[in-house]
Amino acid sequence: MTRIHLEKLNRNYGEHAAVKDVSFTVEDGSSCVILGPSGAGKTTLLRCIAGLEKPDGGSVYFDEKDVSALTPAERRISMIFQTPALFDHTRVKDNIAYGMAKLGFDQKEIQRRTEESARMLHIEKLQERYPLSLSGGEKQRVSIARAMIREPSILLLDEPFSSLDTRLAQELCEEVRRLQKEKGMTMITVTHDQTEAMALADQLILMKDGRIAAMGTPLSLYNDPPNLFAADFLGETSVNKVTRGTKLFEQLEDTYPVPPSAETIAFRPSAACISNEGKFSGKLISLKKGYEADQALVKAGDTDVLIALEKGMRLSGEVRFDLNPASLLIFDENGDSLNHARNVV
Ligand code: ADP
Repeated sequence: MTRIHLEKLNRNYGEHAAVKDVSFTVEDGSSCVILGPSGAGKTTLLRCIAGLEKPDGGSVYFDEKDVSALTPAERRISMIFQTPALFDHTRVKDNIAYGMAKLGFDQKEIQRRTEESARMLHIEKLQERYPLSLSGGEKQRVSIARAMIREPSILLLDEPFSSLDTRLAQELCEEVRRLQKEKGMTMITVTHDQTEAMALADQLILMKDGRIAAMGTPLSLYNDPPNLFAADFLGETSVNKVTRGTKLFEQLEDTYPVPPSAETIAFRPSAACISNEGKFSGKLISLKKGYEADQALVKAGDTDVLIALEKGMRLSGEVRFDLNPASLLIFDENGDSLNHARNVV
């Protein structure tokens, strides 16, 4: 199996720097997810690792070997794209086995591996069919089976589930994760979907404007984001932001230890709770209904905050709420976290 290391990778399109000085390591047999808004440089980065794009600077290493000058074929990776590129007039089993003969495998071994890959992806019964008669999910299963047949040590996926409906995407995502663990593959997935990122990642890399904005395990980044961008991007709803100069910021400063250089105090809806004895108050603006729990949008002074509600809770007019001080996220004027400084104030 293989460890992937990127060293100061750069890729420009004319004047535009799509990837800037990106360095990171994906350990042997682990799964890394690259997450970020559209245009952040995720796909460009993945294509540089695959050898489909030539970097303008920096290097890609597989284990100790610099593969920067190698073609995609020489890198011996498998890649899965958003749209499965299948041959419509070729049976599923031949689509799966495509290219194996050229790699020097004999017919018997190709047949054994095709059947094994089809079984892993639960498409044994589709082997005689043609791609045109398959659903989107089935087609993507075929393209994953085709990637798996080579028993790659590196699997790269570019938005692999984003054209499938939510439940199907979730199902395939779980299967790919199971296979990655079972086979000990080193995997990098590009996605903009946080649920996928949580399900797939040992290591999460959040990108912004061609650079790494945050890197760590999904939970460490969620609970202790290094900057406001990561705090805001990760999570089901955007984080509540209270900025210096507002009444609520003053109240928070009077109540909790807040470093003098703090410019924004952020907290997630789940860090707030409605309580008659709450230290803070505001006016209910609206209720957001959810399957699991509702949320209340409350105007506290001049700041709107979203507060998670317990099931069945009724609210109107003036509300009081409390905050869990351990869940407050504090940032300086550059948006960098001051959380590790707040205990020493
Ligand atoms: P993401 O995958 O995060 O959406 P991309 O890597 O596709 O981002 O793109 C990063 C930036 O590079 C974007 O601004 C995009 O417009 C630009 N870009 C990507 N591919 C090309 C290309 N072939 N030619 C010119 N600009 C490109």
